[in-house]
Amino acid sequence: MTITVPQANPGAGYRALKTEIDAAVARALESGWYILGQEGRAFEAEFAEWLGAPAAVGCANGTDALALALRGLGIGPGSAVATVSHTAVATVAAIEMVGASAVLIDIDPVHYTMDPAELAAVLDNPPPGLPPIRAVIPVHLYGQAADLDAILPLCRRHGVALIEDCAQAHGATLHGKRLGTFGAVGTFSLYPTKNLGALGDGGVIATGDAALATRIAALRQYGWHSHYISDEVGVNSRLDEVQAAILRAKLPHLDAQNARRQAIAAAYDAALATIAPPARRPGASHVFHQYVIRVRDRAAIQARLREAGIGTGIHYPMPVHLQPAYKDRVALGPARCRASETAAAEVLSLPMYPELTEAQIETVAAALRAL
Ligand SMILES: *Cc1c(COP(=O)(O)O)cnc(C)c1O
Repeated sequence: MTITVPQANPGAGYRALKTEIDAAVARALESGWYILGQEGRAFEAEFAEWLGAPAAVGCANGTDALALALRGLGIGPGSAVATVSHTAVATVAAIEMVGASAVLIDIDPVHYTMDPAELAAVLDNPPPGLPPIRAVIPVHLYGQAADLDAILPLCRRHGVALIEDCAQAHGATLHGKRLGTFGAVGTFSLYPTKNLGALGDGGVIATGDAALATRIAALRQYGWHSHYISDEVGVNSRLDEVQAAILRAKLPHLDAQNARRQAIAAAYDAALATIAPPARRPGASHVFHQYVIRVRDRAAIQARLREAGIGTGIHYPMPVHLQPAYKDRVALGPARCRASETAAAEVLSLPMYPELTEAQIETVAAALRAL
């Protein structure tokens, strides 16, 4: 059986906006300026305005966005950062990239985001041998807010920075405010399959602190505060002009695309008979980067959906703390990430992108009704 409904389809995202994207690419190419020019500056301003953040800084990818946020906040060797194990490995890789140590908190298995009660316990009683915890990175996984109502006061009380990993949550809100504007910094990946995706790599960092934005903008280019003079040690992590132009073409469509994802999610919800639909956090809007169900007999269900021509994904099959590069090495909270391990064995992502046709949605809905 060939797959007629792929799980992700970035090519369809391009074709849906081909005229605008092609014009944007041509404009960037004709400009004769390819790195950190007016497209990049305009994208940063338009993204900040759309997000409701005072400043945004483009960079090369979402992993670098996290690493630059940490560097900008002065977090490196001799510091620890609390995050989750049930995430893209990039979240933990970024912490180690800057020389900091990660401590992994388990998830609330209903919303798949950081368990604030365990975070509180770890902030009160850090694992022995761990350097001081200086930042917390909750991940707004699958397109929905982590429990910031509980996490933000904990960060304030302990004097640690909150960095929101918004790589899967462009446009999602909590109490009407966009994610990425709650903490010291919000970081976004612009990888092609994300809710706002470039046609290549990209990332962007949002902050309300103008001095921090200036520092991060320098750190992404060798630590230059003025041309060719490194005032501090930086890296090379720039967003190129072609990608910035593409992102400017796509950004005005993002809210409508997120609404379309929500409509597709509602159609899937209605078709699920015995499987619980994904939980929505009260007060939060879910932008469905992924539509994730939980099933014990995952391989069998994947096979049945594949028989119906439907692609599925697993985000993610192995929590970070069990992956060979991190196993028995990264610090864990007292819950030992057990709920993360169970989730990794059971989560299943259905096809989700705004370009799904009505016929494709009905194909998925019919297959779900038959499960
Ligand atoms: C995609 C993603 C990243 C990393 O982004 P890249 O652009 O691939 O570097 C980080 N965190 C989460 C939660 C992600 O989904």
